Amino acid sequence: MTHTPRKRFGQNFLHDHNIIYNILSSIQAKPDEHWVEIGPGQGALTEPLLKLGLRLDVVELDRDLVALLKDKFRQQNNLQIHSADALKFDFSTLAKDNEKLRIIGNLPYNISTPLMFHLLDNAFCIEDMHFMLQKEVVDRICAGPGSKKYGRLSVMMQYYCATELLFDVPPESFDPAPKVMSAIVRLVPHQQPPVVVNDMEKLNRVVTQAFSQRRKTLRNSLKKLIDEESIITLNIDPTLRAEALSLHDFAKLSNLLQETP
Ligand code: SAH
Repeated sequence: MTHTPRKRFGQNFLHDHNIIYNILSSIQAKPDEHWVEIGPGQGALTEPLLKLGLRLDVVELDRDLVALLKDKFRQQNNLQIHSADALKFDFSTLAKDNEKLRIIGNLPYNISTPLMFHLLDNAFCIEDMHFMLQKEVVDRICAGPGSKKYGRLSVMMQYYCATELLFDVPPESFDPAPKVMSAIVRLVPHQQPPVVVNDMEKLNRVVTQAFSQRRKTLRNSLKKLIDEESIITLNIDPTLRAEALSLHDFAKLSNLLQETP
């Protein structure tokens, strides 16, 4: 069976064996683990994972690929194939008896950010996640204060997880080759949140507002949410820009928002 890659499903199939080998060495998968692969495609990562003897669930949107996978792996009894949209899939149903899932995917780049947040809704049943993403997105996820890449995605992702860029992957490693550089990111959900946030919606609001005008000082960018005096009471300098604040600072600001009507 041959498959013509579909652009609308973000299909860029990995065909570089060195990269596949590097991914497998970094994830250190073990036979007694329960893995979930998102967007298995034609099985570039699925096949070596199955060879390790672990339990694997895969979620694939393209029905033609589901048929291809069912045929290719019909002998495998450690594989469960779900024909579904990962954005709507309830991953918590896969985790039985308090077990933790390890998640992997060479993700369709157009849905990668909403998909990561969807998964993080169920962070309690996730051990870790390894994703192939656009390098630009990985850089933003992992950036810290002071960096030009530091923004809403960095703060929100780092609230939920420890983040780490593992290595870059060039366009030629895929068929068809994407226009941009890719990278592998490791996300490990925190057991305990690193900061106290009373209301995630408020953290999201403060962070979005502060970075939507990132050249402005907090005094100006947060004017509609928090007054200058209140920012000072938190020991945060209101003449700073969003870029200078830590996750802890944003958490303090969001908790203050709670108290203002
Ligand atoms: N893992 C394979 C394929 C990567 S391409 C490889 O590395 O070669 C991305 C894959 O995600 C494709 O198989 C595509 O059909 C699938 N996909 C796209 N949108 C999806 C969605 N919403 N839910 C599940 N899978 C999706």
